[in-house]
Amino acid sequence: MGKPTGFKEFDRKKVPWRLPVVRVNDYDEVYTEPRVEHLQEQGARCMDCGVPFCQSNTGCPIDNLIPEWNDLVYNNRWQEAIERLHKTNNFPEFTGRTCPAPCEGSCVLGITNPPVTIKNIENAIVDRAWEEGWIQPEPPEIRTGKKVAIVGSGPAGLSAADQLNRAGHQVTVYEREDRIGGLLQYGIPNMKLSKAAVQRRVDKLVAEGVTFITGVNVGKDIDPQALTKKNDALLLACGATKPRDLPIANRDAKGVHFAMEFLTANTKQSVHGDSLGDGFISAEGKDVIVIGGGDTGTDCIGTSIRHGCRSLVNFELLPKPPADREPDNPWPEWPRIYRVDYGHEEAAAKFGRDPREYQILSKEFLVDDKGNLRGIKTIEVLWTKDDNGGWKMAEVEGSEKEWPAQLILLAMGFLGPEQYIADSLKIEVDPRSNFQAEHGRFATSIEGVFAAGDCRRGQSLVVWAINEGRGAARAIDIYLQGSSGLPAPGVTLGTSMETA
Ligand SMILES: Cc1cc2nc3c(=O)[nH]c(=O)nc-3n(C[C@H](O)[C@H](O)[C@H](O)COP(=O)(O)OP(=O)(O)OC[C@H]3O[C@@H](n4cnc5c(N)ncnc54)[C@H](O)[C@@H]3O)c2cc1C
Ligand code: SF4
Repeated sequence: MGKPTGFKEFDRKKVPWRLPVVRVNDYDEVYTEPRVEHLQEQGARCMDCGVPFCQSNTGCPIDNLIPEWNDLVYNNRWQEAIERLHKTNNFPEFTGRTCPAPCEGSCVLGITNPPVTIKNIENAIVDRAWEEGWIQPEPPEIRTGKKVAIVGSGPAGLSAADQLNRAGHQVTVYEREDRIGGLLQYGIPNMKLSKAAVQRRVDKLVAEGVTFITGVNVGKDIDPQALTKKNDALLLACGATKPRDLPIANRDAKGVHFAMEFLTANTKQSVHGDSLGDGFISAEGKDVIVIGGGDTGTDCIGTSIRHGCRSLVNFELLPKPPADREPDNPWPEWPRIYRVDYGHEEAAAKFGRDPREYQILSKEFLVDDKGNLRGIKTIEVLWTKDDNGGWKMAEVEGSEKEWPAQLILLAMGFLGPEQYIADSLKIEVDPRSNFQAEHGRFATSIEGVFAAGDCRRGQSLVVWAINEGRGAARAIDIYLQGSSGLPAPGVTLGTSMETA
């Protein structure tokens, strides 16, 4: 423990983001460069508790050794800090930028004071390591002669590829998109996670011997059975890509899109410079309504503002969360409280108010005589508890309202993986249509076929995808060699938190 009195001396101070009015003019990351002294002071707040809940229990899903690297940062031992961080996390710059930080919700200091800024410190350690050149390709010294195919290049597929390659297996990753990264590439916008940071890791994996094949849709362009024959094991890491729809009147109106269509096209054209023509969905000059909160909703808000939308509203079906923890949501659970993310901040700076409207149920898209979207009809809802403590929703009579909109983005979450691979491999799925496989074993009902990430657990988080990719790699290594030197990520209790 660096400074025994640090938590008494220093207040929590997050690394600030760039000013909203400035950052909405570009797609660069929202973060600023932290000062070393700032990070050391914040690291000094860590109490090195007897039981560090931040790295276990309901805290970090990959068991990051948080108190150890807090101490190393306080003592200015950055190279050792990145070594510690890489022991549990293949890609700290992905989690350091995107993770909602359940660790901070479980930080023991958080019982009485604001928690340690763990996520900021994680991000600073890995950014410094890249700058200093401490992260270099390390190809395995020995090859086993075993071949593993991975379908999907999101964080689950990438972390599994990294681990399996380290174990000496020859890994090929198949991706149907034109670029590698899954939702790290086409989902989470550049403002939150730069695509250069994603590519840097992909380049390192290539230099270490991983093969990536893009533009191949397994199950459509090639038969997954052929992959099982050509390889010693197959890992499905296809994500939960089926979006939840809103089947109300005039759903086919021109101007209603799934969030992922909008976000993917934006990254391709606005960040990578691809020319999409009519495939680009522009919010410029439009009244935009985003239906659904969560990370996807926030990303649609931030992107629409950068396009130059005329107005912006975000509908939430649920009530506004409380400012502080409710009695039924105690520490060390994930705090279900009101939060202001980057997109909300930007909307407030641009339009003078937070864009979120709570307890709104969408009833009907409104169209003109050419089928173009002109708005949406809604009604307010009330949530009450029934005799069994379950939540009940009721419409408020007379609260119907029409909102103008020429672009509506559906960001209401995902319903599991698409089924065509499961069908052609004949693997079992669970009642929520995810690929059936137990956490820890990751084996599907078909010998030699494994599943990890959102396609197994349902829509979740980057950090959980990394947990699953690492775990699946170990399970595959044991399947191929009888034992494994790869670490087993812990099974934290997890929380009900997910991202939409
Ligand atoms: C807009 C958005 C923002 C998010 N923001 C955050 C955030 O800020 N923080 C956070 O922690 N989480 C966030 N998430 C959730 C997080 O991105 C996911 O939980 C995580 O990426 C899941 O990883 P994965 O590897 O399982 O799948 P994915 O990242 O979904 O990757 C799956 C990949 O498989 C490919 N694929 C699918 N089927 C095939 C096939 N048949 N053949 C070839 N390739 C195939 C897909 O093209 C995709 O590239 C967000 C999600 C969305 C949608
Ligand atoms: S990965 Fe997430 S939960 Fe784990 S230490 Fe980093 S921010 Fe915290």
